Amino acid sequence: MAEQEASGLKVLLSTLQSSQDRDVILNILSVLADLFSVGTDRRIHYMISKGGSEALLQALVNAAQTAEPDYSILLPLLRLLAKVGQRDRKFGQRVQKLEAIDVTLSLARKNLGHHLHLIHCLWALRVYASSVTAGTTLGINGAMELLFKVITPYTKKHTRTVRAAIEALAALLKSKSNSRRVVHRGYLCGLLRLYQDWHQSDISNSYIHIRRGLLLCLKHITNIRSGRETFRCARGMEILFATVQDCLASKSLDSIVTTVTQILRKCYPKESLPLATASSSFSFSPPGSISFQSPRSGPEDESEEDGEEEVEKDFDNDDPENKEEDDDLETDVNKLRSRPGLDRPEKELAQYEAMCPELSHDFQELESESEDERGSEDVLRSLPFTHPRVIPSAAFMQQQCGRGKDQNTKGPRPEPAERAFKAPLKGPEKDGKCISAQTTENKTTGDSAQNADGLCEEKGSARSCGLMLRPLPKDASWDAKTFNAQCVSYCSPSPAGEVGDLDVGKGHLERRQGNIPFHRPHLYMAKAGSTKSVPDYTFLALSDFWGHEPPSYCQSMLERKYAVQRAKIFDDIRRLIQPGDVIGRVVFDLEEPSPSSLDAPDCLKFFSKFESGNLRKAIQVHGFEYDLIMNADVNSSQHHQWFYFEVSAMKSAVPYRFNVINCEKVNSQFNYGMQPVMYSVKEALQDKPHWIRVGYDICYYKNHYRRRAAATGTTQGKSYYTLSFSVTFPHKDDVCYLAYHYPYTYSALMAHLDMLAETRNPKKVFYGQQTLCQTLGGNPCPLLTITAMPESKSRNDLEQFRNRPYVVLVARVHPGESNASWVMKGTLEFLVSSDPIAELLRKCFIFKIIPMLNPDGVINGNHRCSLSGDDLNRQWLAPSPLLHPTIYHSKGFLYYLRSIGRAPLVFCDYHGHSQKKNVFLYGCSIKETLWQAGCPVDTAVVTEHVGYRTLPKILDKVATPFSMSSCSFLVEKSRASTARVVVWQEIGVLRSYTMESTYCGCSHGLYKGLQIGTRELEEMGAKFCLGLLILQLKSLPCSKKLITQAAALLDLEEEIRDFQTQRNS
Ligand SMILES: [Zn+2]
Repeated sequence: MAEQEASGLKVLLSTLQSSQDRDVILNILSVLADLFSVGTDRRIHYMISKGGSEALLQALVNAAQTAEPDYSILLPLLRLLAKVGQRDRKFGQRVQKLEAIDVTLSLARKNLGHHLHLIHCLWALRVYASSVTAGTTLGINGAMELLFKVITPYTKKHTRTVRAAIEALAALLKSKSNSRRVVHRGYLCGLLRLYQDWHQSDISNSYIHIRRGLLLCLKHITNIRSGRETFRCARGMEILFATVQDCLASKSLDSIVTTVTQILRKCYPKESLPLATASSSFSFSPPGSISFQSPRSGPEDESEEDGEEEVEKDFDNDDPENKEEDDDLETDVNKLRSRPGLDRPEKELAQYEAMCPELSHDFQELESESEDERGSEDVLRSLPFTHPRVIPSAAFMQQQCGRGKDQNTKGPRPEPAERAFKAPLKGPEKDGKCISAQTTENKTTGDSAQNADGLCEEKGSARSCGLMLRPLPKDASWDAKTFNAQCVSYCSPSPAGEVGDLDVGKGHLERRQGNIPFHRPHLYMAKAGSTKSVPDYTFLALSDFWGHEPPSYCQSMLERKYAVQRAKIFDDIRRLIQPGDVIGRVVFDLEEPSPSSLDAPDCLKFFSKFESGNLRKAIQVHGFEYDLIMNADVNSSQHHQWFYFEVSAMKSAVPYRFNVINCEKVNSQFNYGMQPVMYSVKEALQDKPHWIRVGYDICYYKNHYRRRAAATGTTQGKSYYTLSFSVTFPHKDDVCYLAYHYPYTYSALMAHLDMLAETRNPKKVFYGQQTLCQTLGGNPCPLLTITAMPESKSRNDLEQFRNRPYVVLVARVHPGESNASWVMKGTLEFLVSSDPIAELLRKCFIFKIIPMLNPDGVINGNHRCSLSGDDLNRQWLAPSPLLHPTIYHSKGFLYYLRSIGRAPLVFCDYHGHSQKKNVFLYGCSIKETLWQAGCPVDTAVVTEHVGYRTLPKILDKVATPFSMSSCSFLVEKSRASTARVVVWQEIGVLRSYTMESTYCGCSHGLYKGLQIGTRELEEMGAKFCLGLLILQLKSLPCSKKLITQAAALLDLEEEIRDFQTQRNS
């Protein structure tokens, strides 16, 4: 049957090509037209596969080349061609080959006055033009001139023909050579005028197709540089901007507004950021390097002549990080299976023995006296961690290395801190931290600064830290008394009488005492005093000082308002075409502490020179609108994403708009319901010390600022992106902080660790804090040990104690991922807690935790890198002891564990993910990688334990924000030097993970539709631990006693029985 059909069709088509008989041809054409008038495209595709396009084209050429062309044949032929051509991917080639282009063009020329004939030719031409080569030939042969003649001047006669001609022209202009020709001939102005005419006369919106067609012509022409220039010269920006204002109200005109927006965005002249250089305001000379050269940037030119038209949707859902995933997969089985040797001399590993005091400590202190008589202090003192030990520092390593290789090194190198900081250090204190009590800023901030300063001069911990609280603005008479009194109470925990009238403050303080678990302001201040920063911070952010506790409520994701992005883009364009309305006043500049307009009235005040702060510049654009520029990572000119700054002197009940104009990622969760966070000091004083999600009219889009090619590491400059949001502050003259995500500073970590050590039960919790190494910036990188104290010093108990498997957890290698720190905080608090599950966990494992792998990055407000300007999570393959000490020693420590046969059971590196929702794990699997890449997997050669999937499966069940479906176990080439892959491959840890936590919120489960807060992040950290316990029960050897205990606790009896059966089978 099918064969009969096929042969029937073949006969029909060959007859069509060769027949001279008019009736035969007309019959065949009418059969074909009937055939295609119903049914699906499959019929057409079938005909194309049988040579249908060629047959029709041949018939066209035959019919057109007669002396008296027969339009009763030509018209149905042209209609069929237009229909079939759209679906034939090789139509362009066929048109060229059969020379149908000239034939159709000349038919059109002959029929300029005959609209029925002409429109048929135009339909065919439009389809021809969808092929670039055919379109180019058409252009050379004068098609554009012809079409232009049809569409100009403006007339409402024969609008169908006009529409067909405009659509054919738009198709032709997809070819760049055609666009150039049109620009050269000066048609662009004509098109603009024509568009204006149609816009003005089409009051009832009956000719949207024509208007949109003209816009498409302009859109294609402006893909080329000369097109954009001509468009701007012809005042195209102003014309389109003015016309589109009439279209905004009607939803039926969306396609017009969208196209206009695309054209205007594309033609907006590209500029560089209003900065002398994109490089960070802070520079740091890493050991052994010549000083960092910051490339000075000149005016940015438009480098992308004929740049590919970028897809511009309102906002699209592509995850750029996943796009090239498959190309990126490691498919070399040998590489996947290899176990590289040590990256350092084996004898170096001996230094890490000191980091496992639990393996040698004899616990003589246990049972030496009756338990109750021993105070916790004594136990603490007797633990092995208080013994002094050599801390590997950059300088130490340099000496070590110098002995072997670098014989040129002469004399001792200066300490990293001396070498590193721009400003010479002043007056050293007993702990080695150098403080400058009076800085220029201190002098310039006026009375209130001295106020705060004066307060901190009181005796107590505040004085020894040398840091000052941020002063309140002069006009902030509100609550000043309360505020100051509380500051004093916090700065200087001395009897109230000494500092005068504290009645109000005391009230607050008493109410709040202990309100925020694991936070004490004066302890924070003291810790911050020892924190070393490149800019030598002298101020504390009040938000960090007062501390944060999550509000009692959850916050939903923000629903996106219709057309919010469009409105913002039009505002940007308005700035360009109405420059007189723009204030353009720099109100904050990190490099110029007192810009001339500092005292301008009705202007917000900004500040960011505090730990993790990173605002570089603020420019007032309109009365209540500010452009903000973030500082780049130290020694870098990129990685802008994180932001944290202080704002004050606001009015209440007024929407302020902020545009962060130098973002880099191509998309952001700010387009999908995420809000930034804010902390109001006034709210904090009213017992609401919360970072909360705020902001509305939020959107994230590509702007007209160009990143230099040099700064992007590519051959072409790229664009920056704007994050725009509006905030209405809760109080007048408040001091507020705005941030990308809940801040968590290094000083907060250090204070937090002190409190952990204090609050734990020393009889039960073996807790130790050591220093893994010093960072480049001279800050200690803490390494923690948490496990259960042995039950007694009996041999059996000590053996059980020492033989517990290790779990190694690390976090915050990327400083902008503060969510990772909150998850880690949850893990730590849970692990030292008296929760019976935590007790059990401590008996199962020895936890080794490095809670902040990149302290310097966190301190200095970086988003991605360390002080050397390197992404530390791309250094694990060959970390440098000089440049990447925390990674070098973390890896060394893991090597050491492996060398004594104690490679960790689980390794997990906590991160934050900016493009996805939920919490999930990345792991490593050879087989899954090969399968995903479509490689054959020889299961005889590649054997793999599937245990890597167990933990994420458990977390999927026990941790609300966790999502198994987001997990991936693929080994990507681009991730070859990450902690996860290197620890899996080199240390041989099967369960080596990256845990990614969303910045935004959850898309499933109990938290669906909610933004994530610190409570949920901390909960995740605790649930991760629970997951480890279940992992232990489920798939690892453990005692009956443990199983029984766990079963009682977890209410998992049935499941536990399952585990046992599984294990026994
Ligand atoms: Zn990360």
